[in-house]
Amino acid sequence: MGEFELIQKHFLPLAGSVSNGALVLGPGDDCAIQRIPAGHDLVFSIDTMVEGIHFPASYPPEYLAWRALAAAASDLAAMGAAPACFTLALTLPAADDDWLTGFARGLADASHIFRLALAGGDTTRGPLSLSVQVHGTVAEGRGLRRSGARAGDLICVSGTLGDAGAALDYLEEAQPTDDMAQVLERYHHPSPRLELGESLSGLATAAIDISDGLMADLGHILEASGAGATIDQALIPLSPALSRLKGARAVDYALHAGDDYELCVTVPEAIWQVASDAIRSQMTVIGTVNQDAGLHIKDSPGHTDRPTTGFDHFRSKA
Ligand code: ADP
Ligand code: MG
Repeated sequence: MGEFELIQKHFLPLAGSVSNGALVLGPGDDCAIQRIPAGHDLVFSIDTMVEGIHFPASYPPEYLAWRALAAAASDLAAMGAAPACFTLALTLPAADDDWLTGFARGLADASHIFRLALAGGDTTRGPLSLSVQVHGTVAEGRGLRRSGARAGDLICVSGTLGDAGAALDYLEEAQPTDDMAQVLERYHHPSPRLELGESLSGLATAAIDISDGLMADLGHILEASGAGATIDQALIPLSPALSRLKGARAVDYALHAGDDYELCVTVPEAIWQVASDAIRSQMTVIGTVNQDAGLHIKDSPGHTDRPTTGFDHFRSKA
């Protein structure tokens, strides 16, 4: 199968399956054309996944496609942007038809659920890796940044944390228990908080998606905002499955492991008090932004400081 045949068979059928009005011209030409609604800013980002680094060797292609698009979509959620379209640069060791069929299925599902239209891409031969560039839009000036957290703001996270990180311990499990299956599902099929992110635009002072772990990602907000924070370990939302699997260590997965793609935002208390039920029911307040630098974790019974660690590609873990 040649490059054109491969694109024609597996990728072009996806084009046009998401009709969110973003694309004037989809794949097949030299470039795609996106129309930005009047009064909006274009928000865009690219994410690369490399076999053996971001996903295990022989990882099922359906999951790979979903995770790649989810990770990219999660960055849009963290900006408060509405999803529009994406391009895909795919490097493959071989044109394996079964693999491509699975990959295209995962991509079609994710594209549909995340409301991201396939705009085009590039297909090359080499060690397996893929880059997804996503485009979204946000009302002019309303993009949520990392830099707006102010002393007194509440720190809120969506969903529950730590499941995807714990799942890494069970990827090879031949007969996973129900609890293992639940956390594995969080790893294989993350759900970026697109609608929640959009609804937080104009309310949150800062936002980030949790891809590298709460400590690391909240640390990025604090650094960009020139602020510090205290979080209460007992308030960190954990799934019952994670608590059962990991006991007292569950919170360590929530603090330090990545891949959950939940949101961490800062919100002024007065705004939080009047936020919609939809927002409040999806988020948990875990602490407060302070003036003094550093991220402090309130550990029962006293206050204990822990080092800020997360995943950093160019630094080996301590
Ligand atoms: P060019 O040489 O002009 O860059 P390509 O041969 O790379 O064109 O691609 C031809 C068309 O197919 C382009 O419109 C491109 O966006 C699309 N395309 C290539 N690879 C993919 C892919 N993996 N998914 C979706 N569209 C793709
Ligand atoms: Mg090209």
